[in-house]
Amino acid sequence: MSFHITPQGKKLVTLIPGDGIGPEVVNACRRIIEATGAPIVWEEREAGAEVFKKGLPSGVAPETIESIRKTRVVLKGPLTTPVGYGEKSANVTLRKLFETYGNIRPVREMPGVPTPYSGRAVDLVVVRENIEDLYAGIEYMQTPGVAQGLKLISRKGCEKIVRLGFEVARAEGRKRVHCATKSNIMKLTEGLLKRTFEAVAPEYPDIEAQHIIIDNCAHQLVKKPEQFDVIVTTNMNGDIISDLSSALIGGLGFAPSANIGNEVAIFEAVHGSAPKYAGKNVINPTALILSAVLLLRHLGEFDAATSVENAVLVTLEEGKVKTGDVVGYDKGASTTVFTDSVIANLGRKSERWHARNYKPIKLPQVTTRPDMVTAKSRRVIGVDVFVESGKDSSELGPSLEKLAADSPFRLKLISNRGTKVYPAMGAMMDCVDHWRCRFMARAAEGSITNDEVLQFVTKVSAQHSWVHLEKLLEIDGAQGFTRDQGED
Ligand code: NAP
Repeated sequence: MSFHITPQGKKLVTLIPGDGIGPEVVNACRRIIEATGAPIVWEEREAGAEVFKKGLPSGVAPETIESIRKTRVVLKGPLTTPVGYGEKSANVTLRKLFETYGNIRPVREMPGVPTPYSGRAVDLVVVRENIEDLYAGIEYMQTPGVAQGLKLISRKGCEKIVRLGFEVARAEGRKRVHCATKSNIMKLTEGLLKRTFEAVAPEYPDIEAQHIIIDNCAHQLVKKPEQFDVIVTTNMNGDIISDLSSALIGGLGFAPSANIGNEVAIFEAVHGSAPKYAGKNVINPTALILSAVLLLRHLGEFDAATSVENAVLVTLEEGKVKTGDVVGYDKGASTTVFTDSVIANLGRKSERWHARNYKPIKLPQVTTRPDMVTAKSRRVIGVDVFVESGKDSSELGPSLEKLAADSPFRLKLISNRGTKVYPAMGAMMDCVDHWRCRFMARAAEGSITNDEVLQFVTKVSAQHSWVHLEKLLEIDGAQGFTRDQGED
């Protein structure tokens, strides 16, 4: 990744103050980084609430996008997400615009921050996929009463995040990577991450690789968090377990993050804009300060990074100055006083608490070709026609069977929200008006053509209202779709 160097030989970084408490924490970081003497200059740009108010539904100003294209590195405060239908999250816009596919969230016990886990040396990193999954936000109302969200997971996305997880482990001298998925239920989507992890892991023989089901991972994180080193996971799982993990070490005030892509990296705290504390000078800036430590390392400013990390550790360990979110410090120090204290401690080192010895992360190189996965053979062996109907399946079934009688398809089953209801198998279902009607090809060989699908759906639509279609594929001899509950 190349950085923008100014004529004065300094590294240019885009600075987004953000909303709510953002400007306070960003200012704290700016002062600390400037105090280290690291050769960094800022280009301040806007995103978030003010941009939405100007009528830009992305929440990111064009000048901000232009600045990031140039600098490739961003330090940003939190952005408030408007609650409504029109606008997208400006955070998600930024992550997607610059394909920052990996979200790295270190979680480490902090000195002088009492929690039920104090003394257990919690020290792990959640490496979360940042672009795909349900957070792609591809959603539809299929009937007035049934909503659908598409969970898209790609082999390329999985490969990048898995490799990033192993590379983070290597850069930080860590020994174990867990891959946390819900592949026992979502065998194709979550299963793709598990299969990719298993395929890539042998390339990292120095690191122990282990799969864990995500719900057990949440359980184990609360029960025995010290067993984890690096956890690689999908977007939504990662969002939840990284917030859970940050609570183990004292809360969101201590949780940094980095959004990493091939071209751009965005450093921000895990927390949001905490509007109730905005402008009060009371919040804890540590999360963004530790994100700035990640930024300094990313820029190759290893000495400055270690100096800031050590100063934070010394400040917290001495405990003279703590913000109000630390248990027992309801009347804590102000954001400014805490920041002053970190600056005063630059150059000092704790006897007991050490900054890790980091190496640069070797960013994974995965092909940029869209079609990185191809198949030797593929054929269409059926079609799922999703129908909106207030009828019962006992009425719908015979009607669809009749329509399929002289077509290349036969009705295999009808299901309601994933459970087979026709032919009836005794399920005690509370059905809704959204039916998945699975039609399989009558011919055992060959592929159903697009024309055959379209002609058949036209025939169905003369009597029933279809709302969604899905071709059923066989890829390299394996079924490319899941069975319904109760389907043989
Ligand atoms: P939040 O802003 O993270 O705040 C939740 C709570 O966490 C606060 O009320 C406070 O707890 C604690 N907290 C957060 N940051 C803290 C800090 N630096 N120091 C001390 N305590 C801190 O979450 P939210 O209220 O759900 O979200 C507010 C807005 O931020 C929303 O619009 C959301 O979409 C947005 N958001 C943005 C980002 C981002 O920009 N990356 C991330 C998350 C959320 P107590 O009340 O217990 O003191």
